[in-house]
Amino acid sequence: AKENGRNGYAFYHRSMSMAVEKQQNMENELHRALAQEEFRIHYQPLVNVTGAVVGFEALIRWQHPEKGLLPPVEFIPSLEVSGMIVPVSNWLLAKCSHQIAEWKTAGFWQDGWYLSINISPLQFYQADMIHTLQQAILDGGAELTDICLEITETVAVENIEFAKSRLQSIRELGVIIALDDFGTGYSSLGYLKDLPINIVKIDRSFIQELGAQNNSRSIVEAVASIAQAYDLKVIAEGIETKEQLAIAHEIGCHMFQGFYIERPQEPKQLQGDYLSKGL
Ligand code: C2E
Ligand code: CA
Ligand code: CA
Ligand code: CA
Repeated sequence: AKENGRNGYAFYHRSMSMAVEKQQNMENELHRALAQEEFRIHYQPLVNVTGAVVGFEALIRWQHPEKGLLPPVEFIPSLEVSGMIVPVSNWLLAKCSHQIAEWKTAGFWQDGWYLSINISPLQFYQADMIHTLQQAILDGGAELTDICLEITETVAVENIEFAKSRLQSIRELGVIIALDDFGTGYSSLGYLKDLPINIVKIDRSFIQELGAQNNSRSIVEAVASIAQAYDLKVIAEGIETKEQLAIAHEIGCHMFQGFYIERPQEPKQLQGDYLSKGL
């Protein structure tokens, strides 16, 4: 039994150090990725009730030299654990701002469009977040009103007093604020009244069940009517079928996003497609 115990310990020890080593390797790779600009940004259109584009969501990818194009689920957790999400997010803000400026010069960007950017919890809590945000956007050549920040419901309600004042400061810059993945954090609809936000994005788990035999529709309807009462815009995200789009329309959502409308795309491809379609 003693032998087993010792072997068990040795095994535990070895797998622990392997995990540490793996995280360390990953961190080294992420540092290289940032330094060598291996991260990419794809843009997914958001459309209004007439189907016209109103903006885009910026979604990060990693063009890994051996593994190919990796989705965020494969590296965002490591970025968060290591704290590297902060410099990477700052890189992304600058890059997005440059992209908007470039699109403006190319005549692609329309008045009133906005670019939506996901904010990680760690980034949201940085002491210098407001200053860094302002600087990155203005240095890149975009305007603060071209930007929307998406924060998750969970982050917003975790420390509601902090969130309120931070969001208020962001609003004062002219930046739009969207509450992302709404409905997944089990918070009450009452929070929508307390937070200085502009947009609610209903999580795709509800949208994808629209049309199925369950109560998703009533949930989406409830969120839409409360949001309307508080003067908020509602986005239905993750729309994959014609039927989901039709029901989201019926319910009165204001904006729509999903593979059925358009997949996230590289900037060049997006610009080319839309310019050739004549928009
Ligand atoms: P999210 O913010 O909820 O972003 C929407 C995700 O849904 C994206 O996945 C998008 O590609 C996907 N999506 C859009 N339409 C559909 C659809 O019709 N069906 C399905 N099944 N999926 C759809 P993606 O790009 O893999 O990103 C996953 C998550 O990673 C994002 O979820 C967000 O939480 C995080 N993320 C992405 N980019 C960034 C970033 O730049 N910074 C931070 N902090 N997080 C990011
Ligand atoms: Ca998002
Ligand atoms: Ca979302
Ligand atoms: Ca999500």
